[in-house]
Amino acid sequence: MDGFDTRAIHAGQEPDPLTGAVVPPIYQVSTYAQDGVGGLRGGYEYSRSANPTRTALQECLAALEAPGIDGAAGLAFASGLAAEDTLIRAVCRPGDHAVIPDDAYGGTYRLFARVAGPWGVDHTPAQLTSPESVAAAMVPGRTRMVWVETPTNPLLGIADIAALADVAHAGGALLVVDNTFASPYLQQPLLLGADVVVHSTTKYLGGHSDVVGGALVAKDRELATTLAYYQNAMGAVPGPFDSWLTLRGIKTLGVRMDRHSQNARAVATFLDGHPAVARVRWPGLPGHPGHDVAVRQMSDFGGMVSFHHAAGEDAAVAMCGRTRVFTLAESLGGVESLIEHPARMTHASAAGSPLEVPGDLVRLSVGIETVDDLLADLDQALR
Ligand SMILES: *Cc1c(COP(=O)(O)O)cnc(C)c1O
Repeated sequence: MDGFDTRAIHAGQEPDPLTGAVVPPIYQVSTYAQDGVGGLRGGYEYSRSANPTRTALQECLAALEAPGIDGAAGLAFASGLAAEDTLIRAVCRPGDHAVIPDDAYGGTYRLFARVAGPWGVDHTPAQLTSPESVAAAMVPGRTRMVWVETPTNPLLGIADIAALADVAHAGGALLVVDNTFASPYLQQPLLLGADVVVHSTTKYLGGHSDVVGGALVAKDRELATTLAYYQNAMGAVPGPFDSWLTLRGIKTLGVRMDRHSQNARAVATFLDGHPAVARVRWPGLPGHPGHDVAVRQMSDFGGMVSFHHAAGEDAAVAMCGRTRVFTLAESLGGVESLIEHPARMTHASAAGSPLEVPGDLVRLSVGIETVDDLLADLDQALR
């Protein structure tokens, strides 16, 4: 199973041995009969610890992010933030330190600032586009992880994963990459030197805006075993139906990402030449400061496009209320196009912090609708 799309459709998903069902059934069950004490039939005893539908999802995730890496493992969670919290607790102890991005998903920042911080793990925001700035933010003997998002949410900055892996490892830290925006179809951080990949599977992996979920994929067997222990001990697991929906979405990840990237290219090019737009942020544009690194580490540039409205914050907010095909909503990565105002919506929790987002910024999750309808909608909303 060498090809990405073949793995997306088949990995972890052999036809059901009992019935031949081609798609893994939703094992909507909490406990499993034992043949005598400790006599487990399929290795399953209780669904927080393991459930067959979740196992299928976890094996598929590992096959997509870590093809051919012996000992790598995928773990599914109830949300992206549940995955992140479990990772922080498993890797850090009170007194430890983390380097985080100066541009990141607002909820990730809130988790570090308001949850991990009071628990005793402090953090330093660093500019991920500069490996020197990341190295300077590390605290010798205390930094356990360097946390990277690339492309970043919502400014679409690009971090050089291989360079940052060297920086993190030189300081004795793990490199964690939130791969939500690119998805494993466009970028595989573990193959570039990262130790753990984080996902909000709510976004491109699920792909249909109908399920909330998260995932970790660890490269190293020992770390994977530790994370699996915490997954069970902390218990933030997804249910069987949510696991099934995510698996169903993953089957079409490749064709969706191709169309997302193609439509985003047309949208970014259109906005780039529009008089009401001051600046477009999409890593596929040759003028984007991270374009060369993106070309090196991504196979295409994805469906997220941000731009600065030339007339400022009020105009940006008003425009978000005028689109008809783009739905005004938080989240991203579904087949339908979404528009939002990060400073007042997804990133409101970062106000007043180093991760505060400019008010003239509009973020688009470009869907897979007919591209002419998307361009016409943006054109009328910008008038
Ligand atoms: C949405 C998102 C998260 C959080 O995931 P949830 O599933 O909402 O908990 C983390 N990182 C990024 C980049 C996201 O977009």
